[in-house]
Amino acid sequence: MLRVVVVGGGVIGASTAYHLARAGAAVTLLERGDLASGASGSCDKAVILQSKSPGIHLELALKSADLFGGLTADLGTDIEYACKGGMIVVEHHDQLPVMDDFVARQRAAGLDVHLIDGQEARKVQPILAKHVVAATWCRLDAEVNPMLLTHAFARRARGLGACVMTGTEVTGLLTLGGRVAGAMTPRGTVTADAVVLAAGAWTPFLAAHLGLVVPIEPRRGQILVSEPVEPAVQGDMLCATYIAAKYSLGLSASHDAPSVGLSLGQTRNGNLLLGGCREFAGYDRRTTHKALTAIARHACRIVPAIKGVQFIRSFAGLRPFTPDGLPILGPAPGIPGLFIASGHEGDGIALSPITGLLMAELLTEREPRVSLDGLGLDRFMTSAEVRDAEGDPAETISRENAASGVHSSSRREDGA
Ligand SMILES: Cc1cc2nc3c(=O)[nH]c(=O)nc-3n(C[C@H](O)[C@H](O)[C@H](O)COP(=O)(O)OP(=O)(O)OC[C@H]3O[C@@H](n4cnc5c(N)ncnc54)[C@H](O)[C@@H]3O)c2cc1C
Repeated sequence: MLRVVVVGGGVIGASTAYHLARAGAAVTLLERGDLASGASGSCDKAVILQSKSPGIHLELALKSADLFGGLTADLGTDIEYACKGGMIVVEHHDQLPVMDDFVARQRAAGLDVHLIDGQEARKVQPILAKHVVAATWCRLDAEVNPMLLTHAFARRARGLGACVMTGTEVTGLLTLGGRVAGAMTPRGTVTADAVVLAAGAWTPFLAAHLGLVVPIEPRRGQILVSEPVEPAVQGDMLCATYIAAKYSLGLSASHDAPSVGLSLGQTRNGNLLLGGCREFAGYDRRTTHKALTAIARHACRIVPAIKGVQFIRSFAGLRPFTPDGLPILGPAPGIPGLFIASGHEGDGIALSPITGLLMAELLTEREPRVSLDGLGLDRFMTSAEVRDAEGDPAETISRENAASGVHSSSRREDGA
């Protein structure tokens, strides 16, 4: 039986563990804190299709959306999945051409999304301000409770025979005969035929144990949470500047702060979740007065009724950012037995079902239903680096171990 260690108990690691266990593998999931103690427990709940860029990104999101429909039954838990549609609000006429183009490209890629005028947008979301000139609308956008989802994946994996160990930090990777053969922890070494790095923004530290450079950086987001209020928001709402901040499109980012754009949703319990900002602040997970004020100001302009709502707490999370906005999925070049499933930036909740399924297909040597070409780590390496790495795996591992020290890491979590 294939033995796999999955490192990281966020939504990606938990989904990978579940799909591997379902495929018959003997899985051990290792999480240094609690399940969902990283980005997967400090995020919004959007399963938004229309925010994905046309191409492989959107293709993954569409396939993932198909899987979400059956997950409640498969996992045997209410994960608060609901398909209520979603909109991207356009505040200014000068934002229209860019959003028009974004929508046209998504429609060409097969997504049912369209632009509606301000009046129609206010019919869908009566809370919108009068100055909003238009919005995009996609009836397939959905939402899910990310904490329930992560825990449900892990619980079901355990039900299928997986061993889920929380409070268990991976401190090194075991290599034997030129292959990765397990993970070291303070509680002992877990041997395996393969190790999947699913540690989100922390994957680079794990990869560095074998001298492998993974270009993932933490991109902080902050969220304000309101007291429960009557149902006020239909599905999820973003604004055009949110899309601009995510993809660096040619729109003026915001009138308040460069990286702030609206993200607004409401939990089943009634709490409003107000985001969102994007900042590179190292591994600092604190909220800041500056960002929260900018988020609140920006939101109040688009949804004035928010001014009368009491906000009760705030939190920050670290999105695992990659330079091209796509996750890194696949084998680590030149390191047999090592796989990477990380770097989902602001899309990890939405892409978790398809990511877990693809990793399980890859590891159990079935043809992945979505081609992983273009998603591997090799896209960030020069062809000489790939040739070097793939030349002699055994030599590479021992050379890199010698160079870096198995237990050392070239990056520090304090951002230094
Ligand atoms: C403010 C904000 C809003 C967001 N909104 C959305 C949204 O609406 N929809 C959406 O799809 N996505 C959203 N995202 C993105 C989403 O949260 C992430 O893409 C996703 O959670 C990443 O999951 P992950 O499992 O890769 O990483 P994480 O959830 O960060 O999990 C990584 C885990 O690895 C563990 N770990 C690290 N090092 C080790 C080690 N050495 N040993 C053992 N364990 C280790 C960590 O403790 C952590 O639990 C948002 C993110 C933020 C910050």
